[in-house]
Amino acid sequence: MGILFQNGVLVNPDGLSGKMDVLCEDGMIAAIAPQLPAKDHRVIDAAGKTILPGLVDVHVHLRDPGLTEKEDIATGTSAAAAGGVTTLLCMPNTRPVCDSVETVSYIMDKAASVGSARVLPIAAVTVGQHGQALTDFSALRRAGAAAFSDDGVPVMNAAVMRAALLAAKAMDAVVIAHEEDGFMVGNRACNEGKISEKLGIPGRPSIAEDIMVMRDVMLAEETGARVHIAHVSTKGAAEIIRKAKARGIAVTAETCPQYFMMTENLLLEKGTMARVNPPLRTETDRRAILEAVCDGTIDCIVTDHAPHCAAEKARPLTQAPSGMVGLETSFAACVSALVQPGLMTLEALAAKMSTIPAALFGLDAGTLRVGGRADLVLVDPQEQWVVDPAAFRSKARNTPFGGMRLTGRVKMTLCGGKITFQDL
Ligand SMILES: [Zn+2]
Repeated sequence: MGILFQNGVLVNPDGLSGKMDVLCEDGMIAAIAPQLPAKDHRVIDAAGKTILPGLVDVHVHLRDPGLTEKEDIATGTSAAAAGGVTTLLCMPNTRPVCDSVETVSYIMDKAASVGSARVLPIAAVTVGQHGQALTDFSALRRAGAAAFSDDGVPVMNAAVMRAALLAAKAMDAVVIAHEEDGFMVGNRACNEGKISEKLGIPGRPSIAEDIMVMRDVMLAEETGARVHIAHVSTKGAAEIIRKAKARGIAVTAETCPQYFMMTENLLLEKGTMARVNPPLRTETDRRAILEAVCDGTIDCIVTDHAPHCAAEKARPLTQAPSGMVGLETSFAACVSALVQPGLMTLEALAAKMSTIPAALFGLDAGTLRVGGRADLVLVDPQEQWVVDPAAFRSKARNTPFGGMRLTGRVKMTLCGGKITFQDL
């Protein structure tokens, strides 16, 4: 028995769009047409709702293996499904670090058996993420690694980064770069500026991000390799990327909702919930990131979903871990910040959260077409709701979005034709 969505509006950046019925059968899209007969299908009345290709999040921390008190593959992908995500790339800073074929295989096998989303591991650039010896890129790629990154920490040694880019280029893989100069940021809790002064603690200067983005843009130009800049948070970094793209350098970039919706001021109100790396910045930076998202300098929107235990986030600001969860709020946050104010159409948002990231990483995702996989999300772009972290599918509750009223809600998610989430 198939699932037939009737009376909805299809918003499909890379294919047929408009008032369309969509029929899913045997895990695939069987038909897309203005009116399809019900036959013996399960009918979902999508009147007033919108069907999008399943979202693709290329920056998620699932914490599995080894840190499963924070999150695991079952709960993390369940949170993804609740956020409309059908394909995700997970970062390698687990225990052990995902730097071996065994760990890549462990993640893929576990996701296939207990996952509610398609999971593709990102393998580490360096063994143990220690920043020295390169991992075995070709073996990891063959095992299924979707990209390479030492995310969580920067690759500080430029010679190592250059070697990594050359190795990645040989297999047309992308290196995702966490851009903060480790010597300038240490384990500091917030942006360097008026909030760090007010709190009397050292901060992370924005130049620490800019300088690393500049270095890796130069390395991308020199090697011809593809660099993807993770979670861009500064005006300076956005400007460097904009200029690099204009010169034809193979650099792409992502950001997260917090960087175009929030500023460092939130630390005073939300404390450790607003601690994240790179840190929330100034209003000038926030506006620059928003502009870069809208003009295409920043290609895609990710969550950097980074779950932590309540006890860890209960520590003092300077000792708590950095990061916030995002999978269950990202779509609504983006609708609220980008679509509602008229900065972006829902179609452009679907491109930023699905079609474009899928294309950047060569994934079979990001569009809905007959004969393609039935990865889709049904959303109500008008529904308002208040974020209640206690209701999250994630094990973690560390979000600064708690209590915020957002517009846009995920109503149902299908991954490979299977219902992975529903709230109808
Ligand atoms: Zn990172």
